[in-house]
Amino acid sequence: MDRPLAKSRLFRYMMRMPDTATNLMPIPGHFDPVPVPREFKPRADGRIDLLGLTKMDLRMALETSQLEPKQAKLRAKQVWHWIYNRGVTDFSLMTDISKTMQPWLEQRFVISRPEVVEAQVSTDGTRKWLLRSDLDSNGGTQDYEMVFIPDADRGTLCVSSQVGCTLNCRFCHTGTMRLVRNLTPGEIVGQVMLARDALGEWPSQPEGRMLTNIVMMGMGEPLYNFDNVRDALKIVMDGDGLGLSRRRITLSTSGVVPMMARAGEEISVNLAVSLHAVTKEVRDEIVPINRKYGIEELLQACADYPGANNARRITFEYVMLRDKNDSDDEAHELVRLIKDYQLPAKVNLIPFNPWPGAPYECSTPERIKSFSNIIFDAGISAPIRTPRGRDIDAACGQLKTASEKQSRAELDRQAEEKQAALG
Ligand code: SAH
Ligand code: SF4
Repeated sequence: MDRPLAKSRLFRYMMRMPDTATNLMPIPGHFDPVPVPREFKPRADGRIDLLGLTKMDLRMALETSQLEPKQAKLRAKQVWHWIYNRGVTDFSLMTDISKTMQPWLEQRFVISRPEVVEAQVSTDGTRKWLLRSDLDSNGGTQDYEMVFIPDADRGTLCVSSQVGCTLNCRFCHTGTMRLVRNLTPGEIVGQVMLARDALGEWPSQPEGRMLTNIVMMGMGEPLYNFDNVRDALKIVMDGDGLGLSRRRITLSTSGVVPMMARAGEEISVNLAVSLHAVTKEVRDEIVPINRKYGIEELLQACADYPGANNARRITFEYVMLRDKNDSDDEAHELVRLIKDYQLPAKVNLIPFNPWPGAPYECSTPERIKSFSNIIFDAGISAPIRTPRGRDIDAACGQLKTASEKQSRAELDRQAEEKQAALG
């Protein structure tokens, strides 16, 4: 097999082998800190996947493959534009790159897309894709999902940040997945690229797009995979590429308090917080991270969130669970908390989306209306979210991949069989 990179500087750099390269060092006095490049593994065929590399890493990848620094800078700019503005995955279509350079790139690099296992369309137009990762070092793959929700005035892509989730919120199907892995920046940004492919939205231009908004509300807790989410979102926001405004991106967290300030400072996207309860007792039960970071601490982090103001409000998500968190008293308490912390806030009431074996039921429509009215009457917006894509299990909290629906015993049996087959 041809492995042109195996002995190159890039390979050593990616494998963190000793190297004297000084251009990886932070530049003293630089007002914008130079990010430290991370470890990237070449694929099984020895080529490096350029999708999801930061601008700096893309340039480094070319430079360490023996391109002159000036050349590397120029080529990186061109390649970046082709990848993120034009959606091109084939180097031979990059017309401003010479015919001799194109195969050179092809030999060393690849521009990937996540593998689509299944694509479904709901009766309400919502679309869901089941995606599969590349083979990992154990020869396994993992599945994750993304959802596109078209509306009259916008189109929202719900992006996953992890395969599964470690947090086990009791009303969330994703939280019952046993296997969890962080998605890479390439896999996160790859979801947006794939959606653009499917919607036929290349080249990238801000007018007339179907995909207008992104919410980090798919599988996983984005603040437990912060670096990868940040790098992916920076690519999504880059003006010479996908060019989506940070005002059109919302990151939802269950309340990973220590990471919230960094999210505000480093990506400055809209913040949504999965509050779901106003007392310690109930929140401890339904959102277990509350035992670590309590409601007061969480609301203080919201008050301190950089960039939140009346024009950019923090969204509090509140899932409506029958006889659990849906009383009028709890609505009044929610208003009190928001006012006490002087939060520029809106509340999003989410009717509970059921899944097989879920321990809760959805509140009645009358109860939800009454809860909403109390909050509206206090001058805080509290719309009731219309569930979308329930028939294809695409609604909030319903994402759980089929492979994970197998029992533990079944997975163990398969692993044993695989082991036996390997001899
Ligand atoms: N992990 C992040 C983002 C993903 S979940 C978070 O928890 O914020 C996106 C939203 O869907 C969260 O508000 C989550 O609490 C909510 N959700 C989870 N399961 C749900 C269900 N079964 N019905 C309705 N909403 C649910
Ligand atoms: Fe994880 Fe969010 Fe589901 Fe909780 S609601 S288990 S944090 S994905």
